Amino acid sequence: MLDVVICGAGVAGCALAIHLRRQGLGVLVVGRSPAARPVGEHLPPHARPLLTELGVWADFLSDGHLRCPGVRSAWGSDQIEARDFIFTPFGDGWNLDRARFNRRLAHSARQAGAEVDDPAALTALERTPYGWQVDILRNGGRASRACRLVVDATGRASALARRLGSSRIADDRLIAVAGWLASAASGHDHTLLLEAVPQGWWYSTPLPDHTQIAVWMTDPPLRLDKPRALQALWRDHLARTTHIRQRVAGCTLVGEMLVRPANTYRMEPPFGESWLAVGDAAAALDPLSSMGIFRALTSAHSAAAAIARHLRGDPAALDDYATTMQRGFAEQMTMRMWAYRQEQRWADQPFWRARHTASSAGSVEEHPADRDRRGVAVVGGAGGIAHDLPGRNAV
Ligand SMILES: Cc1cc2nc3c(=O)[nH]c(=O)nc-3n(C[C@H](O)[C@H](O)[C@H](O)COP(=O)(O)OP(=O)(O)OC[C@H]3O[C@@H](n4cnc5c(N)ncnc54)[C@H](O)[C@@H]3O)c2cc1C
Repeated sequence: MLDVVICGAGVAGCALAIHLRRQGLGVLVVGRSPAARPVGEHLPPHARPLLTELGVWADFLSDGHLRCPGVRSAWGSDQIEARDFIFTPFGDGWNLDRARFNRRLAHSARQAGAEVDDPAALTALERTPYGWQVDILRNGGRASRACRLVVDATGRASALARRLGSSRIADDRLIAVAGWLASAASGHDHTLLLEAVPQGWWYSTPLPDHTQIAVWMTDPPLRLDKPRALQALWRDHLARTTHIRQRVAGCTLVGEMLVRPANTYRMEPPFGESWLAVGDAAAALDPLSSMGIFRALTSAHSAAAAIARHLRGDPAALDDYATTMQRGFAEQMTMRMWAYRQEQRWADQPFWRARHTASSAGSVEEHPADRDRRGVAVVGGAGGIAHDLPGRNAV
């Protein structure tokens, strides 16, 4: 019998598998690669100790991620403020080749002795006296495995937690509208650029594949079912920016645009009898702080300690994990509000007004429209919008 089955082979799932293997536990990770293109993720310098602890830092350095020397932001005023990573003890940040980063972590989990089935789907789970019996579909075949505990590491899908009765408590309805641009003259500016605008904010960063991404973070209502109109709106709002527009001047839009949910929420409860959630499956903050991957790594670290205690018979272990995660989330919510309050130029605009008032991912139930839009929408290309939602029978 396995000790733990982890559903989701992303950052949190693979990091957790490595930590659990080090405690001598039997682990299976059931995953499938994300359907959509990653949206230009940045890894801050202080993630380095966590990657070192996982034993992946040396390989990370040779994986072709782009060094990022700092963040420049026009936030609270039209003037750019620069934050240079040279002043951090951990060196540069990184603009990730996210698919490669995920593959690296999955490879390290296998090397640590975890089974990693990807692509595979957890199609059914049933409680047993010792824990769970789970059904897995892979390579067209089915397998049934027994385990003591299951973990939801499915990211924003929170697929397992929802299935086990957890609800999403959302703080906002932020979405990311992302376009990739082929650089006319990409230059050597590898910084992450942020710019606040009346209806939200933008970020732009060069990526390891030599494209540049420009992402508009805003609130619906946007007509997600009208790709051409959405692309026109993105272009129109891009033209109204000052710094982002300058950075991408002369670049051409390549490939499809993407719309992704990027809101702040937590799942309640984040654990139950013989299960818990890690990373975005448990809680997520909007990407303003670029802390999602860091949070996924730290939650995997805490979850591993809690699971080991739980499997040794400590009845308070999962409760303690949830308390620690909720405390961290509350602190980050306070920092998030502080950051949004630094921008007062459009305090009367709905986007900013909503973020200046006290909230706590505890007050707003998930908006019904968002319940149907948990996955990604692909805009452009063939002209349609494809939702990437879990299949009816799969977790
Ligand atoms: C627009 C945007 C920009 C962002 N920018 C940054 C940034 O710059 N820096 C940063 O640190 N963070 C950023 N984030 C956040 C970051 O992407 C997440 O916080 C992080 O990936 C969470 O890791 P995770 O392992 O919990 O989830 P994920 O990385 O999402 O991994 C979940 C995995 O589970 C798989 N999965 C889903 N459903 C199932 C299922 N039913 N069965 C099996 N597998 C399943 C998925 O395919 C995926 O592989 C951003 C997020 C958004 C939306």
